[in-house]
Amino acid sequence: MEGKREILIVGGGTAGWLTACYLAKFFDLPRHPALSITLVEDPRIGIAGVGEGAFPTLRSTLEFLGIDEFAFIRETAATFKQGIRFDDWLDTPVDGRHSHFIHPFEAPLYAHDANLVSHWLSQDKASRPPFAEAVTIQQRVGQHHRGPKTGAEPGFAAPLNYAYHFDAARFSAILADRARTLGVVHHQDRLLHAAMDQTGTIDHLQFERGGEMGADLYVDCTGLRSELIGGALAEPFTSVKHILFNDRALACHVPGPTADAPLPSYTLAAAHEAGWIWDIGLRDKRGVGCVYSSAHMSEDRARAVLADHRGVGEAAQDARLISFEPGYRARQWVGNCVAVGMSGGFVEPLESTGIVVIEAAAAMIAEMFPFHGPVDASADRFNMLMTARYDNLVNFLKLHYCLSRRDETYWRENVDPASIPPSLQTMLDRWRHRPPGRFDFLIDVETFSFFNYQYILYGMEYCTEAVGGPAGQSDAGSMFARIRNFSDQAIRELPSHRDLIEAINMGT
Ligand code: FAD
Repeated sequence: MEGKREILIVGGGTAGWLTACYLAKFFDLPRHPALSITLVEDPRIGIAGVGEGAFPTLRSTLEFLGIDEFAFIRETAATFKQGIRFDDWLDTPVDGRHSHFIHPFEAPLYAHDANLVSHWLSQDKASRPPFAEAVTIQQRVGQHHRGPKTGAEPGFAAPLNYAYHFDAARFSAILADRARTLGVVHHQDRLLHAAMDQTGTIDHLQFERGGEMGADLYVDCTGLRSELIGGALAEPFTSVKHILFNDRALACHVPGPTADAPLPSYTLAAAHEAGWIWDIGLRDKRGVGCVYSSAHMSEDRARAVLADHRGVGEAAQDARLISFEPGYRARQWVGNCVAVGMSGGFVEPLESTGIVVIEAAAAMIAEMFPFHGPVDASADRFNMLMTARYDNLVNFLKLHYCLSRRDETYWRENVDPASIPPSLQTMLDRWRHRPPGRFDFLIDVETFSFFNYQYILYGMEYCTEAVGGPAGQSDAGSMFARIRNFSDQAIRELPSHRDLIEAINMGT
């Protein structure tokens, strides 16, 4: 058929199934005879199965894919995530004294006639409330273990911004069901070899049982194995280990809090001597992992640090070790092969950016997909946008490390200017004199907005000179009071996070 295109996705983790779903939905696959999508995965290899924290973009993606929110919550043992709580990132704990700050998902309350950030900066450091508490109601809502919605709203709607914590393995299974319903053909088989043509592009793939399979576009979703883009095409890897040092994680599950205990709706990211620990509350258990730099910490020491974390103990001995090199392929789309997910890159688990990058890549492939002409017509554009997105992510993640006052070698090296990308340093210099603003960023290649930077900067006590804001400065005081009152009201009226999750699971 004229213009017929075949897409072959290799890999059935979150990247493979989410890309398959997205493309099938975008092109209305059952009614699009000019397109076929096939996904091949080898269950003997399995999926990474980590990635239990999501980002708010996942809500609109799930809604677009036609996945029912409450069914998704029930089937993946999900809970609501309203942000991240960072413990001990600023200072090494001394004599039981700890520091913490929260990065909520909700943007600061906007008031065009009152510059809240400038006003907060000009307040007395010793007595002002934490930045996130002053500018949004979500910090206190989360601290009081309230949910982000009442449960009576339609799926995906809510007064407060949120994402999810969920069981990553069950998530892939839901996406797989949805993709098959949308017309994606599924095979279980092992990729053995990619045969190349004289131009250096993929001619066909050789599978263990199914033999040869050819396509117009090959989507490499083989995770850290990176079979096509890294293996067959040998695309160079841009390591960012000199900026973001972490390259190991030990992951385990432990029993969750008892049914009568509050259910947290923040991911906990607790800093330790050479990295940090994630602690994610699912409905039926907790996912806990120790992220660390192998250049600064041995595996034995990491297991000991994990064992010391609340409620882990013996489970640390069986924690699964995952090794990764932080970075990304120099080009993600080469000829007739495009990499999505960890085959294309992964920087580290902080701030849960893995799935966001997958969502961005799937949307770009869909919108730039050519039904006529060379299949790589948009590859340069895709590569430019993905590289910019990774570079921006690296900057945002590095911000969490390079402002620390902790005294261990790992943290001192993280503050060393030699480890800070010049583009981040330029922004930091700028933000000495004014807070981050929307004109600092090119929106289409950003995962995080200027206010996300504000939450990290001011959570980490970065010093921006107090600036005279626009007229209406005096109104800022009353805005802060209104935010406080709104948060009191929200704490009274929103259900507890646990009650909300239980009601959704009971189908009430
Ligand atoms: P995988 O899940 O590894 O899937 C690879 C697939 O390829 C599998 O189906 C496998 O069977 C198949 N495959 C491989 N080789 C072959 C072959 N030869 N033949 C056939 N099939 C093959 N992201 C977040 O958004 N939030 C988080 O909180 C988060 N935490 C993370 C923590 C850690 C420690 C790590 C390492 C990652 C984390 N991520 C997180 C990233 C997230 O896990 C991944 O982005 C996501 O799981 C997608 O993985 P993937 O599909 O690319 O790879």
